[in-house]
Amino acid sequence: MKRICILGATGSIGVSTLDVVARHKDKYRVVALTANNNIDLLLQQCQQHQPDYAVVVDEVNAEAFKAKAQASGLTQLTVLTGAKALAEVATLAEVDSVMAAIVGAAGLLPTLAAAQAGKTVLLANKEALVMSGPIFMRAVSESGALLLPIDSEHNAIFQCMPAGYQAGTTSQQVRRILLTASGGPFRTTPLADLPHVTPAQAVAHPNWDMGKKISVDSATMMNKGLEMIEACLLFNVLPEQIQIVIHPQSVIHSMVDYVDGSVLAQMGTPDMRIPIAHALAMPERFASGADGLDLFAVARMDFERPDFERFPCLRLAYEAIHAGGIMPAVLNAANEIAVAAFLQHDIRFTDIAYIIEHTMQAFTAQSANTLEMVLTADQQARDVAQRIIIRLH
Ligand code: NAD
Ligand code: MG
Repeated sequence: MKRICILGATGSIGVSTLDVVARHKDKYRVVALTANNNIDLLLQQCQQHQPDYAVVVDEVNAEAFKAKAQASGLTQLTVLTGAKALAEVATLAEVDSVMAAIVGAAGLLPTLAAAQAGKTVLLANKEALVMSGPIFMRAVSESGALLLPIDSEHNAIFQCMPAGYQAGTTSQQVRRILLTASGGPFRTTPLADLPHVTPAQAVAHPNWDMGKKISVDSATMMNKGLEMIEACLLFNVLPEQIQIVIHPQSVIHSMVDYVDGSVLAQMGTPDMRIPIAHALAMPERFASGADGLDLFAVARMDFERPDFERFPCLRLAYEAIHAGGIMPAVLNAANEIAVAAFLQHDIRFTDIAYIIEHTMQAFTAQSANTLEMVLTADQQARDVAQRIIIRLH
């Protein structure tokens, strides 16, 4: 029986994880669930899964949650609050596996803490890895944590790697990684229309049902930029060894190109319960609840080169990884601020790349040897991005 903590239980990945766990009660026990402020869903999840701990980061909501939990008979539940409580539950001695499914930089400290504590880390929170890159991977190798990718592309690549492959190591047999991308909702939108697309249009992803932030990232293709950086770290390859391939049907979730010319692909319906179930069941397999793939319904698969003019965020992600040091953290922070502003209708869709580019220009590439340096760069980049947004008005 494995014991799991789910960071970001109320989000899209958190809900999918609990759906898979509920199908395998004999194999997994939920020890801790965390949420930022969606206490109604968290309460429902606690009633169903009976964890020992629940974290509500927002303190006002935590008080309301405690009262509701008491009133509904959850008297054994320990309720914690504040950002520090996230790392506390992620490193509990009685936790074996941590699902890192908080969105954005807010997930960095607890995810890193889980890695340092040698937990099995199921990594959905790509921003945490992009920000802290080598620091995170060092923590994994030093503690002996098992790092399992949940992002569908990285999970696909991981499944296509040689048997026994460990994240962070180099495989000499691998020539290239083919990182697939749907191209998002604006793949064929006339370029002149892009400044006028709305948040509602941007979050309406053609193939995947996800949280708002990652949906906007998919529309700008910053998501693929972050995933390219994520893949460099997880599979210890150079950016030049990664080919981004637009594949609008999202049937192939990514591929590994071997030195002998073999290309292995992982396929399936676009349902995050597949990579989640893969990581939870490893080294075995169990049911995820996802539909099987009907190739006759898919009928055809298309592949296109990425368009850097349409998707300038992709170019910025390459610039960030080539600059190295703090720059991926700067890219990520500026993106988080810009996406939030876009979702609030404060800026146009095309301003997102503008804000990130101008934020990056305000920084010189410097090394990021410590977590403090990363967190400082993150905060400074947020301030610069906010000032650019004010100037845009
Ligand atoms: P979401 O917005 O649906 O959920 C985010 C979760 O994080 C919620 O539980 C929320 O309570 C929590 N959270 C948000 N801000 C927080 C804060 N400041 N402190 C503590 N908790 C906070 O997001 P999602 O779509 O589930 O994505 C989660 C992560 O997984 C992201 O990093 C995303 O890139 C990655 N991911 C998601 C998908 C997907 O299909 N949704 C696919 C691949 C990767
Ligand atoms: Mg992905």
